Amino acid sequence: MKNSFLDNLNKGVLGLEPYEPGLPLEHTQKKLGLSKMIKLASNENPLGASPKALAVIQKHIELNRYPDGNAYDLKQNISKKYEVDLNQITIGNGSNDLIEFVSRCFLGEGTNAIYSQHGFAIYPLAIKATGAEPIKAKAKNWGHDLDLMLNLVDKNTKIVFIASPNNPTGTVKNLKEIKDFLSNISDDIIVFLDQAYFEYIEGSEFDIPFSLIKEYPNLVISRSFSKAHGLAALRLGFCISNPDLADYLNRVRQPFNVNSLALSSGIVAIFDKDHIEESIKINESGMKKIKLILEKFNFEYINSFGNFISFDAKQDSDKAFQFFLERGIILRSLKVYEMPQHLRVSIGTEEEMDFFLQILEEYEKDLLSK
Ligand SMILES: *Cc1c(COP(=O)(O)O)cnc(C)c1O
Repeated sequence: MKNSFLDNLNKGVLGLEPYEPGLPLEHTQKKLGLSKMIKLASNENPLGASPKALAVIQKHIELNRYPDGNAYDLKQNISKKYEVDLNQITIGNGSNDLIEFVSRCFLGEGTNAIYSQHGFAIYPLAIKATGAEPIKAKAKNWGHDLDLMLNLVDKNTKIVFIASPNNPTGTVKNLKEIKDFLSNISDDIIVFLDQAYFEYIEGSEFDIPFSLIKEYPNLVISRSFSKAHGLAALRLGFCISNPDLADYLNRVRQPFNVNSLALSSGIVAIFDKDHIEESIKINESGMKKIKLILEKFNFEYINSFGNFISFDAKQDSDKAFQFFLERGIILRSLKVYEMPQHLRVSIGTEEEMDFFLQILEEYEKDLLSK
């Protein structure tokens, strides 16, 4: 029998490809019958969640009550920590939620939004779902080509998505590049700057201050609690924007889009300096180690400012992915990102990195023997 209602789907929704998450650890391990398996596929924090957040969750959460729909306490703390006004803040169910709010506010049939080749996969999904046209700008040296993105703007363009650092390439833009872009783009177009990996960036030239929004009211900057704060499972993010825009973002948001556990955790995790510093430290040493080994075996990698690194596996990335999987490591094949030979590996604990490096050595030997 034919489900005739499918003919009535929004055209944009009809054209969507499902997002493919990293393989789930336990299920995959059971399926393959391996005694040991690690997951380095989703850029999660190997240190775990902020201990302060864990403590607060175990204390007193009333599951029978609706969460605070206005996220009063979390907004207070975000405002305090980042010196932004309360009316500039929008809280999201993960920062993915914020990408959807902005898309729903500005996009629809007859409009378009620009994103970069090898850019975060959620942008084209969110754009298409509204019926708008996603315009992909060819990347330059794996990163966003901001000049090209500017040139692709036409009268129907409503949003440009920029990720810095970008996932899966780890490339960044410095303050000057972002400022030049903002100065040259028409101020009726939203520039959405995704900074999910902000905490990991090394180098002050890449700091994009929220105060820039006063000068460029069309700029939106998003942050996530999923990476350095280790709260990916709870789904929590926020964005800072011009207050007039925040007002509308908060209107399209579901009234209780963020749950109580996420809110209570975010309130303390944002000030859990020890955990953030320790997370950055583990990342730095893991990154250093992995780069050395990739160089030793002549694997070309893309210099990354996030908590992951993507490298050329010297053969079809699905095959390479399979090699690691069968030996107990879940990585990410980057075929869907138009990177047919690249694998992305998240930086794990020291122990996880040693295991990865051991399998990488086996992988290299296997390549040479062919
Ligand atoms: C992981 C990631 C996010 C975070 O998404 P959440 O919904 O906050 O978990 C956002 N942008 C990019 C580029 C990412 O890689």
